[in-house]
This record gives sequence, C-alpha cells and structure tokens, in this order.
Amino acid sequence: MSGAIEGGCHCGALRYRVDEPLQHASYCHCRICQRTMGSPAGIFAGVSKPEAFHYTAGEPRIFASSEKAQREFCGTCGCHLVFRRRDGSRLSINVVTLDDPSIIEPTLHIWTESSLSWFDTRDDHPRRLQSKA
Ligand SMILES: [Zn+2]
Ligand SMILES: [Zn+2]
Repeated sequence: MSGAIEGGCHCGALRYRVDEPLQHASYCHCRICQRTMGSPAGIFAGVSKPEAFHYTAGEPRIFASSEKAQREFCGTCGCHLVFRRRDGSRLSINVVTLDDPSIIEPTLHIWTESSLSWFDTRDDHPRRLQSKA
C-alpha cells in the first residue's frame, strides 16, 4: 500500500487521511463494538503510527467507551470512524469507512466470547477470546 489512504462518514461532514500503511484488520466481536457500531462486529484496521491519522474535514464527536479508549464518530450521521487509546498508543479505523474498503481484508477475530451464534463469516482466520493470544 502506498500513498494517502482516505475515508469518511456517510454524510461527508467528517473526512480523514492516513499517511502510513494500515496494519492488519480484525473483526472485533466485543460488546462495546457491537453497541457503539450497532453491528454484530466492528472491523478495524490499526494505523502503524497514530499521528499519521488526520481529520481533513470536520471535528468528530468523542465517546469514552471504556477507561482506556474512546470512539470518534460523526455527530450528524452517526457513523463510527475511529477507535483511539486515550494514552495515544493506538488508533484503529473502521475499515468500512475507507473510500475503498477493499484495500484491506480482515484476517483475525478478537473478543470471540461475545460473538453472536448467528453471525458467521465462514472463514478460517484465527479466533481469540480477547484482543491478544
Ligand atoms: Zn457524517
Ligand atoms: Zn471491539
């Protein structure tokens, strides 16, 4: 992957650019992703350097989803774009908000303890009970 990676929310109020290659993408089946994204799972790709992520239009609304992390979303259309560790150590983007979500494919499932029995992606990717083995 080379060059700028761009994406944004559905209404266009929020746009972003990532200047570094994306790391691997994962399905996250945790309850926080399920509830904040209104979806059986979130699909996030890590940004190798959090400072390589920039909003190029708009200011996100911020929701502190746990003691350590926050979710950033569009206050107009509700689209959830970013997971960010509040200590600045990690930032992940919601893969489906990329202008071209096909540039990266999820290769891992995490927090599978709360995965929904009727949600099956039918792949053979590794599955971890939490975020790390
Ligand atoms: Zn929006
Ligand atoms: Zn999650």
